[in-house]
Amino acid sequence: MKLDLTGKRALITAGAGGIGRRTAELFSAAGAKVFICDIDQDQLEDARDKVPNLNGTLTDVSNKEALKKMFNAAIDDLGGLDILVNNAGTAGPTGPVEDVDFEDWESCIDINLTCTFLMTQMAIPYLRDAGGGSIVNLSSAAGKFGFPMRSPYSAAKWGIVGFTRTIAIELGTDQIRCNTVHPGAVEGARIDRVIKAKAAAKKVSENAMRDELASIASLKTFVTADDIASMILFLCSKAGAHITGQALSVDGGLEGLV
Ligand code: NAD
Repeated sequence: MKLDLTGKRALITAGAGGIGRRTAELFSAAGAKVFICDIDQDQLEDARDKVPNLNGTLTDVSNKEALKKMFNAAIDDLGGLDILVNNAGTAGPTGPVEDVDFEDWESCIDINLTCTFLMTQMAIPYLRDAGGGSIVNLSSAAGKFGFPMRSPYSAAKWGIVGFTRTIAIELGTDQIRCNTVHPGAVEGARIDRVIKAKAAAKKVSENAMRDELASIASLKTFVTADDIASMILFLCSKAGAHITGQALSVDGGLEGLV
């Protein structure tokens, strides 16, 4: 089955690296016109150079004014909107809840959850004008299990699930579909940083932490950005036409989190 997005206009937050970048590449290859934002200038330029039918702006999604400006630039560039991928997320602090600084809590909730709310609110009128569309919000295995020492991140990712299930009901009659994708541990720089911080907090070696994390997946493996991007593409294509309000895990069968 070929997953086709010919003629579709897609906006992906934090789309220059990691899962967002792979999603942008798959969307472009499937025929979509893509707009991304990112905080990393070099990565953004690299994406602009290498991915056909892609444009984007340098934006820190935690800055609400900048977010609005970026959204307007995206609409100008794309000429409307069919797909929104709220991909931007930050790991937040690692440590027991009583040690979490309020500023770190606020920043983690802001980038993961509030940004998803604000982007969705701005996108709805354009998705409605398009006669319907698809919103995919990136949650995490931490939005499905408790995640010791990562309470702000887990709270934000569970929040995204409640938000998504609710708006799927509100927007169903407009043919706007909303789903969450829950990646497990994705190979790459981000999970290396997560493992390092968790190993330090638990006072174990990074190798031991990595093995422990892999061992709690039924398939005993990490996943890849391509695995996650492929699920997002599926959901945004015709193949996902009747999928809404769902939380889809791509995690090798995680049985919990450590
Ligand atoms: P990542 O850390 O690889 O970053 C992806 C991109 O986000 C980078 O290009 C980075 O420059 C950009 N970015 C970071 N902060 C930004 C900001 N404030 N404004 C704009 N851009 C910013 O992330 P990823 O691993 O691709 O994760 C993508 C999503 O998937 C996130 O919501 C994350 O929480 C979720 N997730 C990831 C994993 C994993 O193991 N990687 C697991 C579960 C969930």
